[in-house]
Formats: sequence, C-alpha cells, structure tokens
Amino acid sequence: MNKLNGIHLSHDKGTKDCKTIDFPLPKTVVIPMSQHMGAPCNCLVKKGDPVTKGQKIGDSEAFMSAPIHSSVSGTVTDVIDYLLPNGSVCKAAVIETDGAQTLCPDLKAPVVNDRKSLIAAVKESGLTGLGGAGFPTHIKLNFDPSKTPVDVLVINAAECEPYITSDYRELIENTDDVLNGIKLVMKHLDIKECKLCIEENKPDAIELMKKKTEKIKNIEIISLPSTYPQGAEKVIIYSATGRIVAEGELPSNQGVMVMNVSTAGFIYRYTQDGIPLTTRRITVDGDCIARNKGNYFVPVGTKVSDILSHCGAEKAGKVLYGGPMMGMCLYDTDQPVTKTTNAILAFKEGRKPETTACIRCGRCVRTCPLSLMPLMIEKAYKEKDVEELKKLKVMLCMNCGCCAYACPAHRPLAEINQLAKGLIPRK
Ligand code: SF4
Ligand code: SF4
Repeated sequence: MNKLNGIHLSHDKGTKDCKTIDFPLPKTVVIPMSQHMGAPCNCLVKKGDPVTKGQKIGDSEAFMSAPIHSSVSGTVTDVIDYLLPNGSVCKAAVIETDGAQTLCPDLKAPVVNDRKSLIAAVKESGLTGLGGAGFPTHIKLNFDPSKTPVDVLVINAAECEPYITSDYRELIENTDDVLNGIKLVMKHLDIKECKLCIEENKPDAIELMKKKTEKIKNIEIISLPSTYPQGAEKVIIYSATGRIVAEGELPSNQGVMVMNVSTAGFIYRYTQDGIPLTTRRITVDGDCIARNKGNYFVPVGTKVSDILSHCGAEKAGKVLYGGPMMGMCLYDTDQPVTKTTNAILAFKEGRKPETTACIRCGRCVRTCPLSLMPLMIEKAYKEKDVEELKKLKVMLCMNCGCCAYACPAHRPLAEINQLAKGLIPRK
C-alpha cells in the first residue's frame, strides 16, 4: 500500500445504518441549468409548460456539458436567473409538482453493446460524477485508447469526509448494481482491471464486496487507511496503483480512470430502466438536525430549506453542501439539491478561532498529501508573486484543507491557496 500524508479525523458516520428512504415530494423544485463542470444548458421549457419526470428540460451543444432532466411531473411556473455558488448566473426552471410523478413517455432503456453506445447512453442520462466535482461522465469515458490507453479502473468508495454515508449505503443497498456497472464499463472500454477502494472504517462493506467478487479475477477490493483525504483523486490513484498524476496531467495520462462508486451503480441502473439522473441519494446530518437524520432519495431541485424543515433544523447557523472539509457553505437555504450534492449538513454557528502569526512549525507542510508548502504559498500570494506561486506548484492544490486543519495559528491556508490559484494565468 502506497501512502501519502493526510490527517486523522473523527468519522462521525452516525447515519451509516440508516437505510435510504424517499424524501417527501416537495411542492416546488428549482432546477438550475448548470449542475456540472463546463457549459450551462439552454433551458428548453418556458413558464406554463407541463413537464413529466425524466423529460429533458436543458441541453447544450458544447463539448463539455450534460443535459438536465426534470425530477418531477408538474408545471413550469417560472424560468429565473439563478445565482450559482461560484458567483455566476444561469437559468433555472421552477416547477410546481403535481404529485403524480408521471414518467416521460419517451424514456426507454438504451441499447448498449459497444463503446460508442455506452458513451452515448451515459451522455443522454445527464450523468455527472456523483462524487462531488460534477465532471460530465460521458467525457471521462471518451478517452482516446490510441493516445492514452486506460488499463485500471479505480472505483472510489473511500468516502473519507466525516458524516457522509451516501456512498456507503450505495455499496450496501445496491451492491449488484455497482458490480454490474463496473463490469459494463470495463467490458465496453476494454479496461483490464478494477481496484475498488474502500476505507478500512467500513469493514462490513469490504467483507461484502470481497465475498461478491471472490470468483472475479480482475476486480480487487482494496482496504484503504482511514486518513483524510483518501478519496481525493490523486491520492486514491497513488494508494491503489502507486502511479503519480503530475501537474497538468489527467488520470488517463497514467492509464487510470477514477469513478465514484455511486456513478458506477447509476450507469447500470440507467441501462436497465432508462431513467435519467433526476434523484440523488444524500446524507442529512449535523448537530442541528433535531429529527430524521439519515439517507434520503431526494429529487434534484428540492430546496435545502424543505430538507431542513423536515429535519427540524430551520435555525441552523451553518449549512453545508457536502462534508465539513471540502463542502460548500450555503449562502441561502432556498438553494436546491443538485446532481453533485451528496450531503446536507446543518450545524450550530461555531466560534471562529482567532488567527495568529505563523510560528513556522511546519505542520501544514507535513500534513499536505501533495507535499506542497502552504506557508510559502501564503507569503507568495500576499506578495502577488506569480512566478513564485508557479514554482510552489499551487495549481496542484486540491483544496483538501488538511493544512488549515493542522495549523495551530488557524491561518486560512486552503482559502488562500484558492485565491492564489486565481492569480495564475490559464492557458
Ligand atoms: S502550520 Fe500554520 S503556523 Fe505552522 S508553519 Fe504552517 S502556517 Fe505556519
Ligand atoms: S489544501 Fe492544498 S496545500 Fe493544503 S493540504 Fe490540501 S493540497 Fe496541500
């Protein structure tokens, strides 16, 4: 086992035994036309239009994009300008649900019998990586085997962020879907072996998957140390294969494709029922959740405020999309669940520790999984020294937050790294 630096966190996986249940259908959903990396979609519906569940309501001809489908049946009551968490604006369809959840009559399971039909089906499903970054999955699958052949599929089931158990529930509840999704991808993309990586704090999932794959020679179950950030792409590739993805490289340059475990399960289900990505399994947890903590299937577009009110957390001080380390703080609880949401965490407002001067203890350097020098990056950022930032390889920073977590002076190192990246001119 190859090992990079990282930190030990309290797991707080209090919802791990909570079987996923359907979230009550909300009265309205707000579906943004940008829920992925790349170009936003054009909204295909207008105020007053009736829609069905699974109906395509957003699409784009851009290379890097993924179509958007309605998660409910009902009527479009408005198309609004929606402020995305990154500060840009896209259109969003507001849909009043009719409670019937009538499926779009055009939906049918795709015929998948080769590489081309698999990629086309995944594109049509609107699938983006379900691990958080929102990379359109059909683009990831569409590597050029003559230039960057992929021989290893790494399935990311690490789920190293505290609290979140949605991927764990996918493993436990949809074990066969996950395995069938892996086999489908390996078969049609001609990938020789798979390494399914699970953190060692989920022994029952490891045992279950080992049992299920004992007769399958080319799927290996790897138990990873429970250190954060095991699930980060570069870290899990190194842990599973020993290969290093250098600055500016993609995993395919090292012959590797990384896929989130829930993504693999979804691909198989889509080939069986043809229902696009319109529902997310999310974990709802945090010290402000008064009742109904757990895992839910939630229609994409459900407002977070509906979830907080179902769980008695209307007065939460801080609400996050995702985990406490890499999650994003909501500026408004009327923001919706999107395709990339894997958790809603609600906390009381904590006391912000005072930032003091750097004591040059080196902890930030010791904990960084990529051996970066956050204290030097902070200095170069303050001096706006772009050449120094490049030498310090700031663009490699994956914003995992280990440095800031370890810093006894409470310096906001991860935030500064993000700002510093903005100074580097993009090609
Ligand atoms: S961990 Fe904080 S105090 Fe220690 S060297 Fe890094 S920035 Fe300075
Ligand atoms: S946030 Fe960046 S610099 Fe800090 S530990 Fe993570 S990768 Fe290293």
